[in-house]
Amino acid sequence: MKKTLIQNELECKKCGDIIYSEYRHDFKYCKCGSVAVDGGMDYIRRIGNVIDTVDRSMHMDEDALADCKEAIRWTEDTDRNELGTVLAVIRALRQHGLLDMSKFKYDSKKTVMVKEIEGKIKELEAENTQLQETVALYQRLHNKLMHENPEKNGRYFICGKMGEEDSLGLPDIIMVCPTYGLDGFQLYKKDGNYSAPGW
Ligand SMILES: [Zn+2]
Repeated sequence: MKKTLIQNELECKKCGDIIYSEYRHDFKYCKCGSVAVDGGMDYIRRIGNVIDTVDRSMHMDEDALADCKEAIRWTEDTDRNELGTVLAVIRALRQHGLLDMSKFKYDSKKTVMVKEIEGKIKELEAENTQLQETVALYQRLHNKLMHENPEKNGRYFICGKMGEEDSLGLPDIIMVCPTYGLDGFQLYKKDGNYSAPGW
């Protein structure tokens, strides 16, 4: 690809001045007068102490430069504002691989963070479901214990059964004593067939 000069520039190491030549006969000295630039975009010419300089000139693919100019024309034709113009040129530079894309990655980092948070939320939801199942199991075991030792816990307990038993061995009627030490009981009658709720 053909390259073209787009910046004719140097830094004088003696005085730190940065100077560039804007057009063919734009001849400029640095602050200390040690070195000068000339030639604009046509040729790079240096006069004076060239050893104590850092060349800062830039060349660019002609196609890329043409696309940048085309981008500017498009923003003028479509009446874009300053931001629209800057972005159009940036897009043209990106298209030609002239941008360090790592310097433009702020938003995608945020996107990654959002994805990480979403993942964490799913993990916590799964953990929560597991904890709820554990609590339900604990409550079932707790109830079982509470009713297995009525003399110790003061809770109501099954003290007898009446009627026929079904295929699972469950009686038609059970007798429930309100608390240990009482002689009376309450009758509870089965109101339907056995069914298993989804624990
Ligand atoms: Zn100087």
